[in-house]
Amino acid sequence: MSTITPATRDRRPNESARLALQKEYPLSSFHDFGLAEPITRALAEEKYVTPTPIQVQTIPIAMSRRDVIGIAQTGTGKTAAFALPMLHHFFTNPKRPDRKTCRALILSPTRELSSQILDSFHAYGRHLRLNATLAIGGVPMGRQVRALMNGVDLLVATPGRLIDLVRTNALRLSEVEILVLDEADRMLDMGFIHDIRRIVAKLPTERQTLFFSATMPQEIAQLAQQMLRDPARVAVTPPASTVELVEQRIIHVDRAAKPTILADVLKGETIDRALVFTRTKHGADRVVRGLAKAGITAEAIHGNKSQGQRERVLAAFRKGDVRTLVATDIAARGIDVDGISHVVNYDLPNVAETYVHRIGRTARAGATGVAISLCDADETAFLRDIERLIRAAIPATDRRTGSPRPVHAQSDGARNRSQHNRGRAHGHGLAPASRPAHTQRPRQRQPERPRQPQPARQAQPERHPEDLTGVVFLNRAAKVRRDDGRRTQR
Ligand code: AMP
Repeated sequence: MSTITPATRDRRPNESARLALQKEYPLSSFHDFGLAEPITRALAEEKYVTPTPIQVQTIPIAMSRRDVIGIAQTGTGKTAAFALPMLHHFFTNPKRPDRKTCRALILSPTRELSSQILDSFHAYGRHLRLNATLAIGGVPMGRQVRALMNGVDLLVATPGRLIDLVRTNALRLSEVEILVLDEADRMLDMGFIHDIRRIVAKLPTERQTLFFSATMPQEIAQLAQQMLRDPARVAVTPPASTVELVEQRIIHVDRAAKPTILADVLKGETIDRALVFTRTKHGADRVVRGLAKAGITAEAIHGNKSQGQRERVLAAFRKGDVRTLVATDIAARGIDVDGISHVVNYDLPNVAETYVHRIGRTARAGATGVAISLCDADETAFLRDIERLIRAAIPATDRRTGSPRPVHAQSDGARNRSQHNRGRAHGHGLAPASRPAHTQRPRQRQPERPRQPQPARQAQPERHPEDLTGVVFLNRAAKVRRDDGRRTQR
C-alpha cells in the first residue's frame, strides 16, 4: 500500500504542450469547481491552470455524485476528470476503510495505464492523507494482499488480478462507493468484458459509476446501460484534432526492405523519442535486433516482458536514455510519455482506428509530431481504410524496387479533403523525387505483376442508435472489426 505521496513528474506535460493545451481550451479555472484547497494547490504545483473540455464537463457532475458516461481518449485529461472529484469526495467524507475493502475502485485494461493512473492520484492528492494501491498482474500477489489487509481508499486494478484477489478473499467489494471503468472499449478488445460483469455483480448497487470509453460500440453501450443509473453524457472529440497535429507520411516499401528503411528513417530524422509499432511481439524483438545491427539502440515492450522489464524500459524511455521504443499495440496502450516526436508504423494496423490511437502518441497534450508508416503490398487495403477514416490522403513516397507502381489512388472525396497534409511530405529526404499520392500523375501502365494476396475484408456492422462515437471517430464501424492478434499480445 502506498500512502499518497508527491508524484513523479513524468505525467507533467512539457511547457510547450501545456501552453498549447491551455490555448486550445480557454474555458475556466480549476477554482470554479469548488474543489478542496489541498487539491487546487496540488494542481497549481502541477502547473494546471485551465481545465480541458472533458474536465469542464465531467468534474461538476461527478462532484454532484451523479453517474457519468464519458467519451474521451487518453490524452484529453480524462484521468484528472475522474480523479479530482474522487479526491474531493474523500477529503469531504473522510472515513477509515474497513479491512480488506476499498472505497473507490478504478478498473483499467493494462498494467501500464493502471500505474499511470495511480501516479496521477499521487500527483493530485499529494496534500491529502489517503491510501492508494495497485492490483495488477505480472507481479507477485503477496504484496497486494498485504496492502489490502487494512483496507484502502483507492484501488487501481486490472480485471484479472482483481478477480484473483476477490476469489482468494483478500478483497471484498461490498464497500465500494465509487467505481471508475476506464477505456471500456479496450476492455472489450482485450476480452475483459465478462470479467467486468463478474466484478460489477459483486459491487453494491448504491454507488457512483464513472464510465469512460474512447468509442462506443454496441456491446459497450449495453454494458454502460446495465452499469449506470441515469448517467450524464459527456464527450470530447480528440482524434480528429490529434490527427491534424501530426505530420503523417507513408513510405511504400518491399516487405523485405522494411528493416533497412526503418533504420534509414530513424537515422534521417531529428528524433527526440520514437515509438515504433509492430503487429506482433516476435516482430518487435526482430526489429530491435535489426536496429542493433544498424547501430541503433532500441528496446522492446510487449506482453512477453515481465512487469519489471517493462517498467525499466519505460523509465529509460521517459528519461531519454532509450530513444527508440518498439512496441505492440496492447503494450503501448497506456504508455503516457510526453515528448514522443515520432511514431513509426513498421507494420500498418489492420484496424484503422488503431492507426489513430498510435499516431496520437506523438501529439499528446497539444504537442505536434511526425508519424511515418511503412506500407508493403499486403498492407495497401489497410492504408485505404485508414485514409477513409481520417478523411485525408497521406502524402506518400515510394521506395519499392523493381517495377515502380503509382502509389495507390485516392477516392475523390478523400483527395478533396486532404488539405491538411498537402505539401508536408517535402523535404524529409526519404525518397528521391517522390511526390505525395494526390499530386502524382498516373504513370504508364506497367506490365502485370503477380497479384499479392489481399487480406480478407469483413462486412461492416450496422451503426447502433446508442453509438455515440460519431462525435469522436469518423468511421466507428472499423473499430468493431476485431484485431485477433490483440488478445494474444498481452
Ligand atoms: P490524460 O488524458 O489524463 O492521460 O492526460 C494527458 C496529459 O495531459 C497528462 O500528461 C496530464 O498530466 C496532462 N493534463 C491533464 N489535464 C491538464 C490540464 N488541465 N492542464 C495541463 N495539463 C493537463
